[in-house]
Amino acid sequence: MSNAPIFRPLPIVPARVPVAIESFIVKVAARCNLACTYCYEFFAHDQSWRSRPPHMSVETARQTGERIGAHAAASHLGQVSIMLHGGEPLLVGPRRFKALLEAIKAGVADRAEILFGVQTNGLLLNEDWLQLMELWQIDVGVSCDGPPEIADRLRVDHSGRGSGAGLERALSLLSGHPQFSGLLCVIDPHSDPIAVWRYLASWAPPLVDFLLPHKTWAAPPYDLSDDEAAPYADWLIRVFDDWMLHAPQIPIRYFEELLTRSLGGSGSLESLGEEPVNLLVVNVDGEYEGVDSLKAARPGAWVTGLNVVEHEVQAVFENELIALRQSGGTQLAEECRSCRLRRECGGGYLPHRYHPERGFRSPSVYCRDIMKLTDHLHSFMRAQAAE
Ligand code: SF4
Repeated sequence: MSNAPIFRPLPIVPARVPVAIESFIVKVAARCNLACTYCYEFFAHDQSWRSRPPHMSVETARQTGERIGAHAAASHLGQVSIMLHGGEPLLVGPRRFKALLEAIKAGVADRAEILFGVQTNGLLLNEDWLQLMELWQIDVGVSCDGPPEIADRLRVDHSGRGSGAGLERALSLLSGHPQFSGLLCVIDPHSDPIAVWRYLASWAPPLVDFLLPHKTWAAPPYDLSDDEAAPYADWLIRVFDDWMLHAPQIPIRYFEELLTRSLGGSGSLESLGEEPVNLLVVNVDGEYEGVDSLKAARPGAWVTGLNVVEHEVQAVFENELIALRQSGGTQLAEECRSCRLRRECGGGYLPHRYHPERGFRSPSVYCRDIMKLTDHLHSFMRAQAAE
């Protein structure tokens, strides 16, 4: 893939029949108490967080709920999922957090059932927070990249202090708690995959998800001139083999989705497959965003110029990149259209496709990793079938 020819970007055509948005990431805090070394939110092209309010106002939350409720009613959705996100969402404090929940719920009203979730670094979690989560039935997902030494190296605060001890406190509180929904791990290919995976598994999470760092062809994750290199596949393959041997009862979403798609099924991860994406981000000031990790791609890639005050949710379907995310496989790069793994991969996660000359009509910068990993999974399935 490193020698892929350069094409002129093609115009993006809106999807004929947009798919209703069923999942919303609502950013309630624009700041974070950590400054993770790989963070796309604060250290990539986008510095707009500096000029945004530090947290969502109650009125913006109500308007957000109002727009979500109207969209749910118009699209005949019985249920919507609302993930409270940031920055670090718990930075707003429990009182404001509760006020924001009430405002969103009042806005949606009885037009849809809301499944609330929160994605946190866990450092502020305590018993009071957990009571609030339980009262509101909020699923709590924690970002955890592995044992404390990794958190101390990569997930540091603004003074450079590590977060390993604080994270362990949070995981002790959450493990076995009914609101614990899972662990999200950004892969560090220099780490020991078995040590990381077994550490995550030791907290008995209901789900583990591994994320590829948000890199692009403009800022590749590793030296692509070495045609043999696929460090993320190598890392994930070791986890997969250990998972299958020792703890297949803990779902690992990335693997399960690849396996399901290989068998002809569909999935929910927007980073795999060709299904139109049904997820939208609302920032602290009420602005709709294309997808927040596009901040790792080119400047302004995430900007829609639309917001909850002036625009219905449906207005985002006119936006170029949301149209691309809604178009499924119809606007993939040529290599992806003819790829034998198109069904499983679907061209990869949109931000990872960004190429300075080809725009988003390019295979994922992780193409060779996805191929190597998927081939390994296929070999595993063939061996299982033979047995
Ligand atoms: S593996 Fe994925 S990114 Fe690579 S060519 Fe196939 S569909 Fe495209």
